[in-house]
Amino acid sequence: MPGNELIGKEEQVQVADVMKRGVLFRYGFEKRRENIFKTSEFEEKFAEYTEAKYALAVSSGSAAVRVALAALNIGPGDEVITSAFTFIATIEAIVEAGAIPVLAEADNSLNLDPKDFERKITDKTKVVIPVHMFGVPAKMDEIMAIAKEHNLKVIEDTAEACGGFYKDKKLGTIGDIGTFSFDYVKTITTGEGGMVITNEEKLYQEAIYYHDHGHDHKVNTSRGKEKRKHLGFNYRMGELNAAIGLAQLAKLEDIIEEQRKHKTYLKKEISSIEGLKFREIPDAEGDIGAFLFIYFPNQEKKEKFENALHQEGIETGVFAYWHYFANIEPSAYQGKEVHLEMNGQTENLVNRAVLFPIAVRQSEEELKKIVDGIKKASSAI
Ligand SMILES: *Cc1c(COP(=O)(O)O)cnc(C)c1O
Repeated sequence: MPGNELIGKEEQVQVADVMKRGVLFRYGFEKRRENIFKTSEFEEKFAEYTEAKYALAVSSGSAAVRVALAALNIGPGDEVITSAFTFIATIEAIVEAGAIPVLAEADNSLNLDPKDFERKITDKTKVVIPVHMFGVPAKMDEIMAIAKEHNLKVIEDTAEACGGFYKDKKLGTIGDIGTFSFDYVKTITTGEGGMVITNEEKLYQEAIYYHDHGHDHKVNTSRGKEKRKHLGFNYRMGELNAAIGLAQLAKLEDIIEEQRKHKTYLKKEISSIEGLKFREIPDAEGDIGAFLFIYFPNQEKKEKFENALHQEGIETGVFAYWHYFANIEPSAYQGKEVHLEMNGQTENLVNRAVLFPIAVRQSEEELKKIVDGIKKASSAI
């Protein structure tokens, strides 16, 4: 939970700066705000960091996916393919758009399997949402090639991999739109918040309209006198969240560097253990190092290992319930159309995987304790 480990003085200074003028809102109050627009500034800095042309701050990572779908004009009857291994919000956003989620298998990388993605394409498919899960890039070359061939738009759900990249391209800038989350467990946090990035002006404009009730944002016009482009919703970010985002963004590179260091150490120390395999990483240099997954040959061994580890006092991450579609009760969809035909590939991986979250502030001693625990627990199974 990197970003929220580091909330401190810099965030306080930023928030106090907003409170000084008392303008908590991204639009309006021109005189009183003395030309301070934290949300716009956060967007500019985020665009610069991700090397995207445009960035739009929104109220959450879930809102970011919803706004991205709206910008692409996705609605009833449209099918949107995403990975069966994602946080539930990706699927919820598709359902909120009135579209049909179609789930494809994850592969050894625990990200969208390009082959199963291609198999799930129909004449109703409009968009694919690869998700860079737990800090690791999806196989974007393969996914982009298939999307291009079938004329599909690509939204990269980058909520869990802010700052990562794939073959020298920042995650979120490879597809048509990239989305981010700044909630309490993400790499940087704004309390609650999200971001939509794109290189296409038209998509950016549509995203702005949709996230603010369709406001046309005419320059030098008061909000009440602005006209409406079309219906939208309220997914605006407030100035206090953006102020925290500015302080957190300045810490992002250091966060990633620390995480990577810790992950590299753990992998090196446990790599010789027999029967234990690492998650496939499509571009190891682009991994932000936020999590370490290891696989066991079968579920029984994995459960034995995890129990032994817990007895050593070492915690592991809990991930399946909220991140694996099969654990969404059919009744939760409330009769909405969803396509969930699965062949067991993702399930097999999820059942054999153990997750270690990596912290920014993790001492050598703590890391060593994890390594010793893993060694002990794996020799006991
Ligand atoms: C966290 C997350 C979201 C949603 O973000 P919120 O800010 O919590 O709404 C969406 N997609 C993925 C993959 C996530 O991990």
